[in-house]
Amino acid sequence: MNVHEYQAKALFEKFGVPVSAGAAARTAGEIDAALARLPEGPTMVKAQIHAGGRGKGTFKDGFKGGVKFCPTKAEAREIAGRMLGNTLVTAQTGPAGRVVRALYFTEASAIKKEYYLAILLDRATSRPVIVASTEGGVEIEKVAHETPEKLHKVLVDPAYGLADFQVREIIFKLGFNPAEAKSAGKLIRSLYAMFWETDASMIEINPLITTPAGGTLALDAKVSFDDNALFRHPEILALRDLNEEDPKEVEASKAGLSYIALDGNIACLVNGAGLAMSTMDIIKHFGGNPANFLDVGGGATKEQVSAAFRIILGDPHVKGIFVNIFGGIMDCNVIALGIVEAVRETGLKMPLVVRLEGNNVVAGKKTLADSGLPITSGDSMADAAGKIVKLVA
Ligand code: GDP
Ligand code: MN
Repeated sequence: MNVHEYQAKALFEKFGVPVSAGAAARTAGEIDAALARLPEGPTMVKAQIHAGGRGKGTFKDGFKGGVKFCPTKAEAREIAGRMLGNTLVTAQTGPAGRVVRALYFTEASAIKKEYYLAILLDRATSRPVIVASTEGGVEIEKVAHETPEKLHKVLVDPAYGLADFQVREIIFKLGFNPAEAKSAGKLIRSLYAMFWETDASMIEINPLITTPAGGTLALDAKVSFDDNALFRHPEILALRDLNEEDPKEVEASKAGLSYIALDGNIACLVNGAGLAMSTMDIIKHFGGNPANFLDVGGGATKEQVSAAFRIILGDPHVKGIFVNIFGGIMDCNVIALGIVEAVRETGLKMPLVVRLEGNNVVAGKKTLADSGLPITSGDSMADAAGKIVKLVA
Protein backbone atom coordinates (compact mmCIF):
# COMPACT_ATOMS: atom_id res chain seq x y z
CA MET A 1 0.00 0.00 0.00
CA ASN A 2 1.24 3.46 -0.91
CA VAL A 3 0.51 6.71 0.90
CA HIS A 4 0.63 10.36 -0.11
CA GLU A 5 3.67 12.54 0.48
CA TYR A 6 1.88 14.56 3.20
CA GLN A 7 0.97 11.36 5.06
CA ALA A 8 4.48 9.95 4.69
CA LYS A 9 5.94 13.19 6.03
CA ALA A 10 3.66 13.08 9.07
CA LEU A 11 5.20 9.67 9.79
CA PHE A 12 8.67 11.11 9.15
CA GLU A 13 8.02 13.73 11.82
CA LYS A 14 6.81 11.10 14.26
CA PHE A 15 10.07 9.18 13.82
CA GLY A 16 12.29 12.24 13.89
CA VAL A 17 13.14 12.55 10.19
CA PRO A 18 13.31 16.31 9.53
CA VAL A 19 10.94 17.80 6.94
CA SER A 20 9.95 21.35 5.98
CA ALA A 21 6.87 22.79 7.68
CA GLY A 22 3.81 21.78 5.67
CA ALA A 23 0.01 21.63 5.61
CA ALA A 24 -2.38 19.63 3.42
CA ALA A 25 -5.68 20.62 1.81
CA ARG A 26 -8.14 18.01 0.58
CA THR A 27 -10.80 20.43 -0.66
CA ALA A 28 -10.79 23.94 -2.08
CA GLY A 29 -12.33 25.06 1.21
CA GLU A 30 -9.28 23.85 3.13
CA ILE A 31 -6.72 25.78 1.07
CA ASP A 32 -6.83 29.03 3.07
CA ALA A 33 -6.71 27.27 6.43
CA ALA A 34 -3.73 25.16 5.28
CA LEU A 35 -1.84 28.22 4.03
CA ALA A 36 -2.62 30.06 7.26
CA ARG A 37 -0.63 27.44 9.14
CA LEU A 38 2.55 28.32 7.20
CA PRO A 39 4.73 31.40 7.62
CA GLU A 40 4.47 34.19 5.03
CA GLY A 41 7.08 33.82 2.27
CA PRO A 42 8.21 31.39 -0.44
CA THR A 43 5.87 28.40 -0.54
CA MET A 44 5.83 25.14 -2.50
CA VAL A 45 2.53 23.80 -3.86
CA LYS A 46 2.68 20.03 -4.34
CA ALA A 47 0.03 17.91 -6.07
CA GLN A 48 -0.67 14.79 -4.02
CA ILE A 49 -0.94 11.69 -6.17
CA HIS A 50 0.59 8.24 -5.73
CA ALA A 51 3.16 8.74 -8.47
CA GLY A 52 6.53 10.37 -8.79
CA GLY A 53 7.84 12.76 -11.40
CA ARG A 54 5.25 15.37 -10.39
CA GLY A 55 7.65 18.29 -10.77
CA LYS A 56 8.18 17.49 -14.45
CA GLY A 57 4.54 16.51 -15.03
CA THR A 58 1.92 18.40 -17.06
CA PHE A 59 -1.75 18.83 -16.32
CA LYS A 60 -4.41 17.82 -18.85
CA ASP A 61 -5.23 21.50 -19.47
CA GLY A 62 -1.61 22.25 -20.40
CA PHE A 63 -0.59 23.76 -17.06
CA LYS A 64 2.99 22.69 -16.34
CA GLY A 65 4.39 21.27 -13.11
CA GLY A 66 2.76 19.38 -10.25
CA VAL A 67 5.35 20.85 -7.83
CA LYS A 68 5.58 24.64 -7.97
CA PHE A 69 7.71 27.21 -6.23
CA CYS A 70 5.68 30.31 -5.31
CA PRO A 71 7.41 33.46 -3.97
CA THR A 72 4.35 34.37 -1.88
CA LYS A 73 1.39 32.67 -0.26
CA ALA A 74 -0.98 34.67 -2.49
CA GLU A 75 0.62 33.05 -5.53
CA ALA A 76 0.46 29.65 -3.85
CA ARG A 77 -3.29 30.13 -3.39
CA GLU A 78 -3.70 30.89 -7.08
CA ILE A 79 -1.59 27.89 -8.20
CA ALA A 80 -3.52 25.66 -5.78
CA GLY A 81 -6.75 26.63 -7.54
CA ARG A 82 -5.29 25.51 -10.86
CA MET A 83 -4.05 22.15 -9.52
CA LEU A 84 -6.89 20.88 -7.34
CA GLY A 85 -9.30 18.70 -9.33
CA ASN A 86 -7.05 18.88 -12.40
CA THR A 87 -5.52 15.74 -13.92
CA LEU A 88 -1.74 15.42 -13.69
CA VAL A 89 0.23 13.29 -16.15
CA THR A 90 3.76 12.27 -15.16
CA ALA A 91 6.26 9.70 -16.41
CA GLN A 92 4.85 7.34 -13.78
CA THR A 93 1.08 7.83 -14.15
CA GLY A 94 0.65 6.61 -17.71
CA PRO A 95 -1.09 8.80 -20.32
CA ALA A 96 -4.42 8.80 -18.43
CA GLY A 97 -2.84 10.69 -15.52
CA ARG A 98 -4.31 11.05 -12.04
CA VAL A 99 -6.87 13.45 -10.66
CA VAL A 100 -5.32 15.65 -7.98
CA ARG A 101 -7.61 15.37 -4.95
CA ALA A 102 -5.26 16.81 -2.35
CA LEU A 103 -2.51 19.42 -2.17
CA TYR A 104 0.41 19.83 0.15
CA PHE A 105 1.86 23.25 0.90
CA THR A 106 5.35 23.47 2.33
CA GLU A 107 7.61 26.25 3.35
CA ALA A 108 10.10 26.45 0.44
CA SER A 109 13.52 25.40 1.66
CA ALA A 110 16.80 26.77 0.35
CA ILE A 111 18.78 23.94 -1.25
CA LYS A 112 22.55 23.60 -1.01
CA LYS A 113 22.67 20.22 -2.72
CA GLU A 114 20.25 17.40 -3.58
CA TYR A 115 20.91 13.75 -2.67
CA TYR A 116 19.08 10.45 -3.00
CA LEU A 117 18.32 8.17 -0.05
CA ALA A 118 16.12 5.09 0.07
CA ILE A 119 15.57 1.99 2.16
CA LEU A 120 13.98 -1.02 0.56
CA LEU A 121 14.01 -4.79 0.71
CA ASP A 122 16.75 -6.50 -1.24
CA ARG A 123 15.13 -9.70 -2.41
CA ALA A 124 18.39 -11.39 -3.36
CA THR A 125 19.76 -11.23 0.21
CA SER A 126 16.40 -10.95 2.05
CA ARG A 127 17.73 -7.88 3.87
CA PRO A 128 16.90 -4.21 4.06
CA VAL A 129 19.21 -2.25 1.80
CA ILE A 130 19.99 1.45 2.10
CA VAL A 131 20.63 3.07 -1.25
CA ALA A 132 22.29 6.48 -1.27
CA SER A 133 23.63 8.75 -3.97
CA THR A 134 25.01 12.23 -4.44
CA GLU A 135 22.95 12.37 -7.65
CA GLY A 136 19.61 13.34 -6.11
CA GLY A 137 16.67 15.17 -7.58
CA VAL A 138 17.05 13.55 -10.99
CA GLU A 139 15.62 10.25 -12.15
CA ILE A 140 17.44 7.64 -10.11
CA GLU A 141 16.78 4.96 -12.76
CA LYS A 142 18.97 7.01 -15.09
CA VAL A 143 21.78 7.13 -12.52
CA ALA A 144 21.47 3.37 -11.96
CA HIS A 145 21.70 2.80 -15.70
CA GLU A 146 24.38 5.30 -16.74
CA THR A 147 26.56 5.74 -13.65
CA PRO A 148 25.88 2.78 -11.35
CA GLU A 149 29.10 3.52 -9.42
CA LYS A 150 27.34 6.59 -8.02
CA LEU A 151 24.75 4.44 -6.22
CA HIS A 152 26.00 3.26 -2.83
CA LYS A 153 24.34 0.28 -1.20
CA VAL A 154 24.53 -0.84 2.40
CA LEU A 155 22.89 -4.12 3.40
CA VAL A 156 21.52 -4.26 6.93
CA ASP A 157 21.48 -7.45 8.98
CA PRO A 158 17.85 -7.48 10.16
CA ALA A 159 18.72 -9.27 13.40
CA TYR A 160 21.47 -6.82 14.34
CA GLY A 161 19.86 -3.69 12.97
CA LEU A 162 21.59 -0.70 11.44
CA ALA A 163 25.12 -0.42 12.84
CA ASP A 164 26.85 2.90 13.50
CA PHE A 165 29.72 2.06 11.15
CA GLN A 166 27.17 1.60 8.36
CA VAL A 167 25.66 5.03 9.04
CA ARG A 168 29.19 6.50 8.89
CA GLU A 169 29.85 4.63 5.65
CA ILE A 170 26.82 6.26 4.00
CA ILE A 171 27.77 9.70 5.33
CA PHE A 172 31.33 9.26 4.07
CA LYS A 173 30.15 8.17 0.61
CA LEU A 174 27.88 11.20 0.36
CA GLY A 175 30.72 13.55 1.34
CA PHE A 176 28.91 15.54 4.03
CA ASN A 177 30.72 18.16 6.10
CA PRO A 178 30.71 17.69 9.92
CA ALA A 179 27.52 19.68 10.60
CA GLU A 180 25.66 17.92 7.77
CA ALA A 181 27.03 14.56 8.89
CA LYS A 182 25.61 15.01 12.38
CA SER A 183 22.16 15.86 11.01
CA ALA A 184 22.29 13.12 8.34
CA GLY A 185 23.32 10.48 10.89
CA LYS A 186 20.25 11.17 12.97
CA LEU A 187 18.07 11.26 9.86
CA ILE A 188 19.34 7.88 8.58
CA ARG A 189 18.86 6.18 11.98
CA SER A 190 15.34 7.62 12.33
CA LEU A 191 14.48 6.53 8.81
CA TYR A 192 15.67 2.99 9.44
CA ALA A 193 13.61 2.88 12.67
CA MET A 194 10.55 3.94 10.70
CA PHE A 195 11.23 1.38 7.96
CA TRP A 196 11.53 -1.38 10.53
CA GLU A 197 8.73 -0.44 12.90
CA THR A 198 6.08 0.30 10.27
CA ASP A 199 6.82 -2.81 8.14
CA ALA A 200 7.53 -0.55 5.19
CA SER A 201 8.67 -2.17 1.97
CA MET A 202 10.17 1.03 0.60
CA ILE A 203 10.96 4.53 1.78
CA GLU A 204 12.42 6.84 -0.83
CA ILE A 205 13.61 10.40 -0.30
CA ASN A 206 14.40 12.10 -3.57
CA PRO A 207 15.69 14.65 -2.97
CA LEU A 208 17.24 14.58 0.45
CA ILE A 209 18.83 18.02 0.73
CA THR A 210 21.51 19.84 2.61
CA THR A 211 20.60 23.42 3.51
CA PRO A 212 22.81 26.51 3.62
CA ALA A 213 22.19 26.53 7.40
CA GLY A 214 24.06 23.22 7.65
CA GLY A 215 21.30 20.66 8.19
CA THR A 216 19.62 17.95 6.15
CA LEU A 217 15.93 17.68 5.18
CA ALA A 218 13.67 15.18 3.43
CA LEU A 219 12.15 17.29 0.65
CA ASP A 220 10.10 14.48 -0.88
CA ALA A 221 8.73 11.25 0.59
CA LYS A 222 7.57 8.13 -1.16
CA VAL A 223 6.61 5.27 1.14
CA SER A 224 5.00 1.88 0.57
CA PHE A 225 4.02 -0.66 3.18
CA ASP A 226 3.87 -4.42 3.10
CA ASP A 227 0.16 -5.25 2.58
CA ASN A 228 0.57 -8.48 4.50
CA ALA A 229 1.69 -6.60 7.62
CA LEU A 230 -1.00 -3.90 7.58
CA PHE A 231 -3.13 -5.80 10.08
CA ARG A 232 -0.47 -4.83 12.63
CA HIS A 233 -0.77 -1.13 11.77
CA PRO A 234 -4.41 0.04 11.76
CA GLU A 235 -3.25 3.68 11.90
CA ILE A 236 -1.35 3.19 8.63
CA LEU A 237 -4.16 1.23 6.99
CA ALA A 238 -6.39 4.24 7.77
CA LEU A 239 -4.21 6.29 5.38
CA ARG A 240 -5.25 4.13 2.42
CA ASP A 241 -6.63 6.18 -0.50
CA LEU A 242 -8.83 3.96 -2.68
CA ASN A 243 -8.99 6.72 -5.33
CA GLU A 244 -5.35 5.96 -6.09
CA GLU A 245 -5.91 2.25 -6.59
CA ASP A 246 -7.23 0.36 -9.61
CA PRO A 247 -10.98 -0.17 -8.86
CA LYS A 248 -10.69 -3.72 -10.19
CA GLU A 249 -7.90 -4.44 -7.70
CA VAL A 250 -9.98 -2.98 -4.88
CA GLU A 251 -12.96 -5.20 -5.78
CA ALA A 252 -10.66 -8.22 -6.03
CA SER A 253 -9.18 -7.62 -2.60
CA LYS A 254 -12.73 -7.41 -1.18
CA ALA A 255 -13.52 -10.80 -2.77
CA GLY A 256 -10.29 -12.28 -1.37
CA LEU A 257 -8.68 -12.62 -4.81
CA SER A 258 -5.16 -11.62 -5.81
CA TYR A 259 -5.53 -9.55 -8.95
CA ILE A 260 -3.11 -7.28 -10.73
CA ALA A 261 -4.15 -5.44 -13.88
CA LEU A 262 -1.75 -5.57 -16.87
CA ASP A 263 -2.03 -4.06 -20.36
CA GLY A 264 -2.68 -7.14 -22.56
CA ASN A 265 -6.01 -8.48 -23.86
CA ILE A 266 -6.13 -12.10 -22.64
CA ALA A 267 -7.63 -12.31 -19.16
CA CYS A 268 -6.36 -15.13 -16.95
CA LEU A 269 -8.18 -16.90 -14.15
CA VAL A 270 -5.89 -19.32 -12.38
CA ASN A 271 -5.57 -21.07 -9.03
CA GLY A 272 -2.20 -20.63 -7.39
CA ALA A 273 0.31 -17.81 -7.80
CA GLY A 274 2.98 -19.99 -9.43
CA LEU A 275 0.55 -21.39 -11.99
CA ALA A 276 -0.73 -17.83 -12.62
CA MET A 277 2.83 -16.69 -13.36
CA SER A 278 3.50 -19.57 -15.74
CA THR A 279 0.13 -18.99 -17.39
CA MET A 280 1.17 -15.44 -18.24
CA ASP A 281 4.49 -16.81 -19.52
CA ILE A 282 2.87 -19.38 -21.78
CA ILE A 283 0.46 -16.79 -23.22
CA LYS A 284 3.51 -14.68 -24.08
CA HIS A 285 5.23 -17.77 -25.49
CA PHE A 286 2.40 -18.24 -27.98
CA GLY A 287 2.53 -14.58 -28.96
CA GLY A 288 -0.32 -13.23 -26.84
CA ASN A 289 -0.47 -10.66 -24.04
CA PRO A 290 -2.00 -11.29 -20.61
CA ALA A 291 -4.50 -8.69 -19.36
CA ASN A 292 -3.98 -9.54 -15.72
CA PHE A 293 -2.58 -11.74 -13.03
CA LEU A 294 -5.43 -13.42 -11.16
CA ASP A 295 -5.05 -16.06 -8.48
CA VAL A 296 -8.35 -17.32 -7.08
CA GLY A 297 -6.44 -19.27 -4.44
CA GLY A 298 -6.48 -22.92 -3.45
CA GLY A 299 -10.02 -23.12 -2.10
CA ALA A 300 -12.07 -20.73 -4.20
CA THR A 301 -15.85 -20.80 -3.92
CA LYS A 302 -18.37 -20.52 -6.76
CA GLU A 303 -19.02 -16.93 -5.63
CA GLN A 304 -15.34 -16.07 -5.88
CA VAL A 305 -15.15 -17.47 -9.40
CA SER A 306 -18.16 -15.33 -10.39
CA ALA A 307 -16.55 -12.28 -8.79
CA ALA A 308 -13.34 -13.04 -10.70
CA PHE A 309 -15.29 -13.06 -13.98
CA ARG A 310 -16.97 -9.75 -13.20
CA ILE A 311 -13.61 -8.17 -12.43
CA ILE A 312 -12.00 -9.56 -15.58
CA LEU A 313 -14.90 -8.36 -17.72
CA GLY A 314 -14.68 -4.91 -16.17
CA ASP A 315 -11.47 -4.39 -18.13
CA PRO A 316 -12.42 -2.97 -21.56
CA HIS A 317 -9.19 -4.29 -23.13
CA VAL A 318 -10.09 -7.93 -22.55
CA LYS A 319 -10.79 -9.83 -25.79
CA GLY A 320 -10.69 -13.39 -24.48
CA ILE A 321 -10.44 -15.41 -21.27
CA PHE A 322 -8.13 -18.24 -20.35
CA VAL A 323 -9.11 -20.29 -17.30
CA ASN A 324 -6.26 -22.51 -16.16
CA ILE A 325 -7.01 -24.70 -13.17
CA PHE A 326 -4.98 -27.43 -11.60
CA GLY A 327 -7.20 -29.06 -9.00
CA GLY A 328 -5.11 -30.08 -6.04
CA ILE A 329 -7.11 -28.87 -3.07
CA MET A 330 -9.45 -27.23 -5.57
CA ASP A 331 -12.39 -29.26 -6.86
CA CYS A 332 -12.52 -28.80 -10.66
CA ASN A 333 -16.30 -29.09 -10.61
CA VAL A 334 -16.64 -26.12 -8.25
CA ILE A 335 -14.69 -24.07 -10.77
CA ALA A 336 -16.78 -25.44 -13.65
CA LEU A 337 -20.04 -24.55 -11.87
CA GLY A 338 -18.71 -21.08 -11.14
CA ILE A 339 -17.71 -20.59 -14.77
CA VAL A 340 -21.09 -21.71 -16.09
CA GLU A 341 -22.94 -19.44 -13.69
CA ALA A 342 -20.69 -16.48 -14.49
CA VAL A 343 -20.99 -17.00 -18.26
CA ARG A 344 -24.79 -17.16 -18.01
CA GLU A 345 -24.92 -14.14 -15.70
CA THR A 346 -22.70 -11.95 -17.87
CA GLY A 347 -23.88 -13.23 -21.27
CA LEU A 348 -20.22 -13.62 -22.25
CA LYS A 349 -19.54 -12.51 -25.84
CA MET A 350 -15.87 -13.37 -26.14
CA PRO A 351 -13.81 -16.56 -26.53
CA LEU A 352 -13.30 -18.57 -23.37
CA VAL A 353 -10.78 -21.39 -23.19
CA VAL A 354 -10.77 -23.62 -20.13
CA ARG A 355 -8.09 -26.06 -19.12
CA LEU A 356 -9.04 -28.22 -16.14
CA GLU A 357 -6.81 -30.87 -14.62
CA GLY A 358 -6.73 -32.81 -11.37
CA ASN A 359 -9.24 -33.32 -8.57
CA ASN A 360 -12.75 -34.22 -9.86
CA VAL A 361 -11.82 -33.20 -13.39
CA VAL A 362 -14.25 -35.62 -15.08
CA ALA A 363 -17.26 -34.05 -13.33
CA GLY A 364 -15.87 -30.57 -14.09
CA LYS A 365 -15.53 -31.25 -17.81
CA LYS A 366 -19.01 -32.79 -17.88
CA THR A 367 -20.49 -29.66 -16.25
CA LEU A 368 -18.90 -27.50 -18.95
CA ALA A 369 -19.96 -29.82 -21.81
CA ASP A 370 -23.55 -30.20 -20.53
CA SER A 371 -23.97 -26.44 -20.16
CA GLY A 372 -24.32 -26.02 -23.91
CA LEU A 373 -22.26 -22.82 -23.65
CA PRO A 374 -19.60 -21.98 -26.25
CA ILE A 375 -16.63 -22.85 -24.08
CA THR A 376 -13.47 -24.17 -25.73
CA SER A 377 -11.74 -26.89 -23.82
CA GLY A 378 -7.95 -27.21 -23.75
CA ASP A 379 -6.27 -30.57 -23.21
CA SER A 380 -3.05 -29.21 -21.79
CA MET A 381 -1.69 -25.85 -20.75
CA ALA A 382 0.09 -25.45 -24.10
CA ASP A 383 -2.94 -26.57 -26.10
CA ALA A 384 -5.22 -24.15 -24.23
CA ALA A 385 -2.80 -21.23 -24.42
CA GLY A 386 -2.32 -21.76 -28.17
CA LYS A 387 -6.10 -21.83 -28.64
CA ILE A 388 -6.87 -18.61 -26.74
CA VAL A 389 -4.06 -16.70 -28.49
CA LYS A 390 -5.43 -17.80 -31.88
CA LEU A 391 -9.01 -16.93 -30.90
CA VAL A 392 -8.22 -13.33 -29.91
CA ALA A 393 -5.77 -12.69 -32.76
P1 GDP B 1 8.55 14.77 -7.66
O1 GDP B 1 8.79 15.56 -8.90
O2 GDP B 1 7.25 14.06 -7.70
O3 GDP B 1 9.68 13.86 -7.35
O4 GDP B 1 8.40 15.84 -6.46
P2 GDP B 1 9.50 16.48 -5.46
O5 GDP B 1 8.86 16.66 -4.15
O6 GDP B 1 10.76 15.71 -5.46
O7 GDP B 1 9.75 17.90 -6.08
C1 GDP B 1 10.35 18.08 -7.35
C2 GDP B 1 11.50 19.03 -7.28
O8 GDP B 1 11.05 20.29 -6.81
C3 GDP B 1 12.59 18.62 -6.30
O9 GDP B 1 13.50 17.74 -6.88
C4 GDP B 1 13.20 19.95 -5.95
O10 GDP B 1 14.22 20.27 -6.88
C5 GDP B 1 12.05 20.94 -6.10
N1 GDP B 1 11.59 21.30 -4.74
C6 GDP B 1 10.71 20.62 -3.96
N2 GDP B 1 10.57 21.23 -2.76
C7 GDP B 1 11.38 22.31 -2.78
C8 GDP B 1 11.70 23.35 -1.82
O11 GDP B 1 11.22 23.39 -0.68
N3 GDP B 1 12.59 24.29 -2.22
C9 GDP B 1 13.16 24.30 -3.45
N4 GDP B 1 14.01 25.24 -3.76
N5 GDP B 1 12.90 23.34 -4.37
C10 GDP B 1 12.03 22.36 -4.04
MN1 MN C 1 10.98 13.58 -5.82
